[in-house]
Amino acid sequence: IDPADSLVRALRRSVAEAPDRTALAYFDGRLTYRELDELSDSVAGHLAARGLERGDRVAVLLQNSPAFVLALFGAWKAGAIVVPVNPMYKAGEVAHVLRDGEVAALVCADRAWESYLRETAAGSPVRIVLTACELDFQTRGDARVLTFERLPQAPDADDLTAVARAGHKAPELPGLAPADIALISYTSGTSGTPKGATNTHGNIMANTERQSRGLPLPEAPVYYALAPLFHITGMVCQLGACLNSAGTLVLTYRFEAGVVLEAFAEHRPHYTVGPSTAFMALAAHPAATREHFSSFVNISSGGAPVPPALVEKFRAGFGPYIRNGYGLTECTAPCASVPPQHEAPVDPASGTLAVGLPGPDTVVRILDDRGEEVPFGEQGEIVVRGPQVVPGYWRRPEATAEAFPDGELRTGDIGFMDERGWLYVVDRKKDMINASGFKVWPREVEDVLYTHPAVREAAVVGVPDGYRGETVKAYISLRPGADADADTLAAYCKDRLAAYKYPRQVEILPDLPKTASGKILRRELRSRAHDQ
Ligand code: ATP
Repeated sequence: IDPADSLVRALRRSVAEAPDRTALAYFDGRLTYRELDELSDSVAGHLAARGLERGDRVAVLLQNSPAFVLALFGAWKAGAIVVPVNPMYKAGEVAHVLRDGEVAALVCADRAWESYLRETAAGSPVRIVLTACELDFQTRGDARVLTFERLPQAPDADDLTAVARAGHKAPELPGLAPADIALISYTSGTSGTPKGATNTHGNIMANTERQSRGLPLPEAPVYYALAPLFHITGMVCQLGACLNSAGTLVLTYRFEAGVVLEAFAEHRPHYTVGPSTAFMALAAHPAATREHFSSFVNISSGGAPVPPALVEKFRAGFGPYIRNGYGLTECTAPCASVPPQHEAPVDPASGTLAVGLPGPDTVVRILDDRGEEVPFGEQGEIVVRGPQVVPGYWRRPEATAEAFPDGELRTGDIGFMDERGWLYVVDRKKDMINASGFKVWPREVEDVLYTHPAVREAAVVGVPDGYRGETVKAYISLRPGADADADTLAAYCKDRLAAYKYPRQVEILPDLPKTASGKILRRELRSRAHDQ
């Protein structure tokens, strides 16, 4: 196939190839490729008629629904830059993005507009508003409740569905170029104030094209969107990869394990990508069976550490092998992943699972504090150069110069590479715990905790300690029905880790705090520990 230079071109090619194939499946609704193309043309025409210009920013605050995809392509077809925003953001966080991104148009759920976004957008640069009824969905006990109830249309916003069905023509624009910015992705904020990484169309296509390469997928593959589309992994590895290969993308609003399992049974997907916490939740769900996973050709996990024990337990319990992948918003999702037909090795010394091999045209190096490359096996900061690395942060020349000296991304992650080129992520530089002068990497302790059968989720942080400077504390959530107490878990680690590494404090919580993309928020646990 002719490599497309943007997802808009990729979509058009898929429309030509399979116009009547289902592009998006959403509960009882379906959109074919032709419909998706025509409806998003109409959204683009509306935005242009409202005065949106090439390069203007359109913020999209929606869950995994067709409305998200229509807003995305509508904005791109109008030549705009999309700012995907986590719909769970609170007013202050949204206000930051609207201001920082100088956002001209906003697409959001009707309920969110009424409840807080109208107020948030007041005084911001937003001048065009589209609202969508995404179908509110709630769960009560084990049953899911879907409400299609549409709010009366707000006088100060247009309805996305009506706009999409109005048959407007998309503006005639010169084609999008690979160097044009496609997205401003505000990093998920596990480590501070969000900065906008500028993912270009070229960055997106570089990673989209390689997602399904080498996988024995059928001609009309079914992708299930487990990761949220507003996060770069969901956008590139699911939506991008799917539309690029004329597949069907199954959307179910947001992650809820019971709903996901039902969708697996109904749609028999071949491909999905999600954070490891999603697979932990699925594996712990009482209804999960091998049959639910029997249609998969590929399951990938990325964006957060994948404990080796999870991969083994998942394979033993459900069949599929979870392929690890490592990436950041700043490199448009993955820069290293486990190639098809390979399995990631586990480093014998540390027990860490490799995240993968660097992707095509991607150079990953490990540097010491002086910026010199370290020998194989030695730890240092991971730096990445490649076609998926963004040109920088939106309007932050200083942060850009710091994170991308010479265009090479400094990830802030500590890792090492073995002689065969497999990359291992040890942890984030800033998460290191200093216990009596010894370095403790939370990951290593978490990996041990995950081998305990009662543990569902584990997160390890450093807490101040008068004697040691810092000491290791583990937060745990248990599998349903599992019975283990804090002392048992501490003793379990003590048997398996050096004395300075094992968690002297263990606290069991019903659930660990997570970002909307499913990452455990160590930052929040750290402040909880400090407050206690
Ligand atoms: P912020 O940059 O604001 O802290 P964030 O880091 O969560 O937010 P992302 O770009 O989504 O934003 O996350 C990238 C980080 O996720 C990487 O730097 C790395 O620490 C971690 N990560 C991603 N994939 C893996 C993996 N396979 N194994 C271990 N860690 C991973």
